[in-house]
Amino acid sequence: MAPIGDVRVRTTLMTRLLPWARRWLPGLLAVVLLAGGGFAGALAMQDGEEVDPRQERQQERRERRSLQPHPNAGPALYPDLQTLPLRDLQFDQLEDQTSVLRFTVEIWNAGEGRVEISAPASDEDGEDVALFQNLYDSAVEGRLAEKRPVAGRVIFHPDHGHWHFANFARYELLDCNAPGECQPVGLGAKVSFCLIDSELEDLDVPWQRQYTVCESSLQGITPGYSDLYLWSLPEQWVVLPDGPLADGEFAVRVTADPDHLLDEGGGEREENNTATAYFTVINGQIGNVRETGEDQPPAATPSPVASSP
Ligand SMILES: [Zn+2]
Repeated sequence: MAPIGDVRVRTTLMTRLLPWARRWLPGLLAVVLLAGGGFAGALAMQDGEEVDPRQERQQERRERRSLQPHPNAGPALYPDLQTLPLRDLQFDQLEDQTSVLRFTVEIWNAGEGRVEISAPASDEDGEDVALFQNLYDSAVEGRLAEKRPVAGRVIFHPDHGHWHFANFARYELLDCNAPGECQPVGLGAKVSFCLIDSELEDLDVPWQRQYTVCESSLQGITPGYSDLYLWSLPEQWVVLPDGPLADGEFAVRVTADPDHLLDEGGGEREENNTATAYFTVINGQIGNVRETGEDQPPAATPSPVASSP
């Protein structure tokens, strides 16, 4: 691949910082607020009323993690994970000369219920703790209706600096040069995510974002919101196993929850998690990025739209 130009390097720095800032700013704000709260608490102590907001918040998280289904809860509402059209496709070369294809992935919750995972056994060591998917009877707040074990785990992502839910997505590179079919190239990648409300996707939902911190103990995506992974993030790519792609037809495919670790309520909702971007490499450059390819004609019926309550 051609070396990266100066302009690209500068914009890369900015685009690298922005997603980090967006992920960390809520945390920083929380720290500032907590520090302020702690000061106020110290003042309150002088009056003999000790209220430590940090302990209060820890206690609240502990309670939410150990929460048991409510006997009078209504029917469980399920999430519906869908991958939005892939964008920002671009070739890059890592420091060790590995050729990669970078792209932006946005997975949103089109369902009526939130996706929430909790790790009640451990707060910080994260590794191989029991995980649960919590299903509530309301999009936000409401009562816990069901708590089902998840055969997954959370792992610490050293480059991102926070906890991720392992195997939340699968990234695959496809060779589509044979007429009418696409074949996977290389092994693809199982990708871990920190589940968080990044972007408001459904402008009709009236609620605020609920999951704003990447913590191991409780993560989720609220109905109507998406979890955004910009192309510039570490490991936001598929490896090109034989180096830069020759000119021809290719595709990259992203599937949310490929191992069905999470319960989306069954049926079609379990299978609508994939987005594929087909593209043509011309003179070593990516062109003609599109959502349908030769192996996948445009859907004859409009895709179902999940309604929000
Ligand atoms: Zn992350």
